[in-house]
Amino acid sequence: MEDRLIENKAFRVILMGVEEIVGKNALKSLLNYSGLTQYIDNIPPNNDKKESTCISETAKLDEAIEEIFGEKGARAILFQVGRMQAKYGLDENPDIARQALESMTGMSEPERARIILNYTADTISKQFDTESWIEEEEGSFLYKDKAGTHCFGRKADFPVCHTTAGFLGGLVTWAVGSNGWKVQETTCMAMGEPYCAFRIYKETAE
Ligand SMILES: [Zn+2]
Repeated sequence: MEDRLIENKAFRVILMGVEEIVGKNALKSLLNYSGLTQYIDNIPPNNDKKESTCISETAKLDEAIEEIFGEKGARAILFQVGRMQAKYGLDENPDIARQALESMTGMSEPERARIILNYTADTISKQFDTESWIEEEEGSFLYKDKAGTHCFGRKADFPVCHTTAGFLGGLVTWAVGSNGWKVQETTCMAMGEPYCAFRIYKETAE
């Protein structure tokens, strides 16, 4: 897979999210540690230009978070960053968000989840010029993705795309209007798989 540019605002939201969770100084340390010193006190502007930030840098930052905060810590931090990305995306596109909610009036939670996941897969496929798609399996949805935005060039024994999991979780929670839905990455390109897969399911009460 080739490295490629991402939109300024995509990396901006990630840096803002990490800073909000770990604090200004820890973000500086992370940027130093990962060799991304050009972003210290200099986050990319809020526009959709693809100028100089590459997905390899997103993956580097994720990896530094994992090395410093451990696997569990990284999962918690990055999942939260992903949820913030989702909220930011919705806040920035209020008309699309409102229309989507209106079109889902009266629908069941799985129907709403299906709509938002298909919409997301279509949008991501176009934005990143990649393949993302939805499959359904025994009451859960599988979001599959070849974008590799958070696992580019990484090798791991476990899934590492926590930001994407948080992002999907944030969107589904918003669309269904309840907190009972979970997202779990089950397969990751960092593990040598041809795509990342995220299982999205409603947690059933015991
Ligand atoms: Zn992955």
